[in-house]
Amino acid sequence: MSFRENILTASVDANPTVPASSDEDREAFRRFAAWGLRALGADVRRINGRLEALLPSPQNVDVRRSRAGDQRPEWLRSPTPSSLAVALDTDTNDADAVDAPPSPQTLTPRSPQTEWIAERLHSLGTAINGVPARQPASAGEIAERLLPAYRIEDGRIRLSGCSLEDRAFFRIYARSPAGSRPQRFVEWTIDADGRRVDAHVAAPLGLDDIAPMTGRPPDLRASAVAELTNLAEQGATAAHGPLEIVGAALLWCKWAAGRIRIEFPTTCTEIRFSDWAATLEPPPFVCPETDVQSHAIGITDDGRIAALEEIAVCKETNRRTLRRELVACSTSGVLALAELVEACPITERPVLRRLLATCGTCGEQISPAAVADGQCQACRSLAVALPSDPRIARVLGEYPALDGWRKWRIAETSRCYVLVGTRLFKRLLVVLDRATLEPRRVATGGRLRKTWTIVPPEQWSFELGQREST
Ligand SMILES: [Zn+2]
Repeated sequence: MSFRENILTASVDANPTVPASSDEDREAFRRFAAWGLRALGADVRRINGRLEALLPSPQNVDVRRSRAGDQRPEWLRSPTPSSLAVALDTDTNDADAVDAPPSPQTLTPRSPQTEWIAERLHSLGTAINGVPARQPASAGEIAERLLPAYRIEDGRIRLSGCSLEDRAFFRIYARSPAGSRPQRFVEWTIDADGRRVDAHVAAPLGLDDIAPMTGRPPDLRASAVAELTNLAEQGATAAHGPLEIVGAALLWCKWAAGRIRIEFPTTCTEIRFSDWAATLEPPPFVCPETDVQSHAIGITDDGRIAALEEIAVCKETNRRTLRRELVACSTSGVLALAELVEACPITERPVLRRLLATCGTCGEQISPAAVADGQCQACRSLAVALPSDPRIARVLGEYPALDGWRKWRIAETSRCYVLVGTRLFKRLLVVLDRATLEPRRVATGGRLRKTWTIVPPEQWSFELGQREST
C-alpha cells in the first residue's frame, strides 16, 4: 500500500458515517452498470466517474413504428449519449443530499434503473458471456506483442504454433437485501475452480473492463454455471454478509500457448510460451551454452546458438565464437581464441603467442613486458644458490654429473628452472622443466665472457651426464 493510500484509508476509517468500503462498493456498482448496459447492447464510456451510455433504438421497423415496441426506458431513449451518475444508496443519506430528489440520471443499487438493468440481464440468461475489452485475441496480436522484444543477429524470428484458448472466470454482482444496513454492493470473481480472484489478479487480465462476447462462447453445462453461482455467492456472503445477486457473468480470458521460432541459415531453436494473453510477456531465451537469459540471440561461426552478449569475435581470426572461449592478450589488449594465447611463465598473464619474445639466454617464450635487453626477468635475476637449496639438491639428484660444477646460481619461472654453474674457466647454463626436470636448453660459455654457445640436444647427455631416473 502506498503512502497516499495509507492516508486515504486512515481518513475514511476516521469518519464513522462513511463505511470504509464505500469507494470500493461505488466502483463495483459502476462496473456493474457499465457491464450490464453493454450486455444490453449499449455503447458505454466511463468519463470521470460518470457513464455515458447510448442504447440504439430497435432496428426492426415494425417495432420502431409502434412506440410501445421501443422498450428502452425514458432515461436511455435519447438519440445522444445519456450522462449517468453512479452513487450508492447510502450516499443520499449525506447531509447535503438529503433534500435532493433522486435524479433520473443517477443510478444507485436500488434505483429503478438498476431494477430495469437486472431484469433485462436476467431475461438474457443466468450468466452472460463477456470478455475483457482489451486482450490480444489473435495469433497476429500475440506476435505483435512478443516478437519486437527480440533481437536476432543474422537470423529470422517468427511465431509458430500459437493457440488461444478461452478460459472461464465467473463473476457475480450483488447487493445487500433491502432494508439491511450497511447497504453493500459487491463484485465477486472466482476462477473455474471456484477460487477467489482478487483485484490484483483481475485487473492485469482486463477483468475490470468487460465487453460483450462476440461469436459463440465455449460450451459450459448449465449445472457448471449453477455450481459456480453457488460458489461465488457463498464466498461473497461469507465476506460481506447476506447478499442478493443482480447479475452474473461468465468472463472468458484468452490463454495463449505456443512457440517462437528463431531460424539461422544452418540451424534453428524455439522458445516456448504459455500464459494469459493479456499478461503475456516475451520469455527470455535461455542460452544453452552459458545459461544466460537474454532477448538478443546470435550464432557462432561453428553453428552454436547463444545469447548475443555471450558471443564475441576473435580479432586475430575474425571468428565469431563464445566470449568465454576468447582471452584478452595482456600485451595488446586484443581478444583472441584461447589457442592463440599463452600464459607468460614470468608474468603469468596471457599473451598472444605471436607477440611473445624469446629470451636470448634461456630461450623461453616470454611476455614482452618481462624482457629487457633481450633477456628475461628470470635470467636477469639469477641468485646464488646455497648447497642446501632443495632445488639444487633435486637437480643434482637427477643429474649426478652436474656435481662437478660449483657456485650455482638459479632463477625460476612458472615453467622452468634456469641454472648457471661455474668451473675453473667455464660456465654451464641449464634450463630444466620445473615439473619433469627435462632439459629445455643447455649452453656453455667462457668464465669471462657474457655470451653463450648453445649445445645441440644430441650433445646434452655429454654435458649433463646420464640422468639418474632413466
Ligand atoms: Zn631467460
